[in-house]
Amino acid sequence: MMKGGKSLLRVTDFEILLDKSVKVHGHLCPGQVLGVRMSMLGLSKIGVEDPKGTDSKNIMVFVEMDRCATDAVQSVTGCSLGHRTMKFLDYGKMAATFLNLKTGRAVRVIAKEESRQKAKEYFPEIENKYEAQLQAYKIMNDSDLFEVMEVQVTVKPEDMPGKPLRRIRCDSCGEHVQDMREVHRDGKVLCRPCDAAGYYQLIGPDIF
Ligand SMILES: [Zn+2]
Ligand SMILES: [Zn+2]
Repeated sequence: MMKGGKSLLRVTDFEILLDKSVKVHGHLCPGQVLGVRMSMLGLSKIGVEDPKGTDSKNIMVFVEMDRCATDAVQSVTGCSLGHRTMKFLDYGKMAATFLNLKTGRAVRVIAKEESRQKAKEYFPEIENKYEAQLQAYKIMNDSDLFEVMEVQVTVKPEDMPGKPLRRIRCDSCGEHVQDMREVHRDGKVLCRPCDAAGYYQLIGPDIF
């Protein structure tokens, strides 16, 4: 799968990568198997061999689900929200895009819906469907498990890793907003929850 040389992502390393991701995630599940395989495939297609070493500054991953597989993607790629190398898009899809920041090459990998059904056919004797999926996802071909598409992703400067480009104070709540997430409306600078309803409602005076 790789053009020679020592690689962290050889097929034979699957079990090692799975083992690591299970430790991070807390349990072995079909999502770990899918996430590890999805990441190995995505990274190989964008020409990244050593995501946690020499290539660590060259990758960004866009995950479209906050599910088990997301932890596996983080574990294999080394990308994380905190490093700004993992972006979460709340699409509810079992998909992720792997971007090589150096070359601009990007592929989006999505788990095929049919693979769920196929998993049962691989292991009809296993009654528990998650167990059947888990075992089948380990051995199914990449092309049976995933659809892979070449895509172009443009990353805005304010979304790149590195120091925040700006910090600005919200005219309404007084809290500071960084990374240009503020909204300019009617001559005012507002944070997003002040501009439109946020995810929380204040229910009393500050505790501190
Ligand atoms: Zn899980
Ligand atoms: Zn505000």
